[in-house]
Amino acid sequence: MKMQVSEMLAQQKMTKEMLVELLGLTGQTDRQTVLDHALAVKAASVGRKVYLRGLIELSNVCGKNCFYCGIRAGNKQVHRYTLAEKEVIDAAVFAWKHQFGSLVIQTGEQSGEGFALLIEQLLIRIHEHTRHELTITLSCGEQPAEVYQRWKKAGADRYLLRIETTNRQLYYTIHPNDAHHAYENRLEALHHLRNSGFQVGTGVMIGLPGQTLENLADDLLFFQKMDVDMVGMGPYIEHADTPLYSLADTLRPPKERFELSLLMIALLRINMPYINIASSTALETLDPLGRQKGLLAGANVVMPNLTPVSDRVNYQLYNNKPNLDKDASTSTASLNTVISEIGETIGFAEPGNSLHFKRRTAK
Ligand code: SAM
Ligand code: SF4
Repeated sequence: MKMQVSEMLAQQKMTKEMLVELLGLTGQTDRQTVLDHALAVKAASVGRKVYLRGLIELSNVCGKNCFYCGIRAGNKQVHRYTLAEKEVIDAAVFAWKHQFGSLVIQTGEQSGEGFALLIEQLLIRIHEHTRHELTITLSCGEQPAEVYQRWKKAGADRYLLRIETTNRQLYYTIHPNDAHHAYENRLEALHHLRNSGFQVGTGVMIGLPGQTLENLADDLLFFQKMDVDMVGMGPYIEHADTPLYSLADTLRPPKERFELSLLMIALLRINMPYINIASSTALETLDPLGRQKGLLAGANVVMPNLTPVSDRVNYQLYNNKPNLDKDASTSTASLNTVISEIGETIGFAEPGNSLHFKRRTAK
């Protein structure tokens, strides 16, 4: 006999079949039941507190050619930039003065000693200028284990490396099938990050061409198996100057991708109550209230963009990326209001570390 939605939600551990069934819900009432349950789980585990991560898009220089990404090496339309040290320090000090508690430094994937040193020195300088009062997440792609260890030692706390999809076959429809883009390398990098002592984050894109609900259920089970501390995931959004754009007409409509993303966040929160989950910028791209809706579905982290406005136009991963012209002060000013309006409180000046990480390392 088929289980009711409420029965499935009450399970300690959901099976793949249950996850597929819940991700496939089409009735508005049923979907809302899942979202409401996730919000209750969040309130009881991590609380209704939102942590801020000031996002610095340090550089769009990238050596890889992921088929979905607007800043892939092969996109010759993009003007390449790397922020000057002063620009990074200014953004970090802005975050510190506005009591963000935390930063994310994101880049295209670069390799070599020059890049390892650039990040290492920036970490040291940021901490010097902000009295070691900010926690820092890096999102700089796959690196050798020694580089991860150096960055950890220089003061990075968390690392975000999305697996993008856990289905190997799908992985190679969205990446070139070569040694530089090997699925195994990405998996191995996640293990290195964990062994280096980071709070480890991963994630996937939702609504990729050819992606099934079974694939997404497997992604949710993968996060649990890997015992990750944080997840950043959001809808896939097409970019006209990328190879994957040729499949744009096979995609689920944006509204469906958006709602599926909310269900993914909700089911993740229910199954991993203590992790940090980001409400992604891509959600906001598909719905002006996307960020708030992500929080109400179980997310607890938002990442206001602190990249200088003049460079943002060059960090367009997908079409219609929002807030290209809103500087840090403008986007920060409304943040508190927007978040308190939905009944959440910002954890000002708090590091916002993953409770899941604290629990697993306290054992
Ligand atoms: N280069 C690093 C990496 O790939 O891990 C970090 C920066 S990369 C731009 C950050 C994330 O952007 C990727 O993990 C990917 O999930 C996301 N992204 C890229 N293109 C996207 C698209 N078209 N739609 C949605 N997300 C996208
Ligand atoms: Fe480069 Fe990351 Fe974009 Fe892939 S997703 S092309 S590694 S920036």
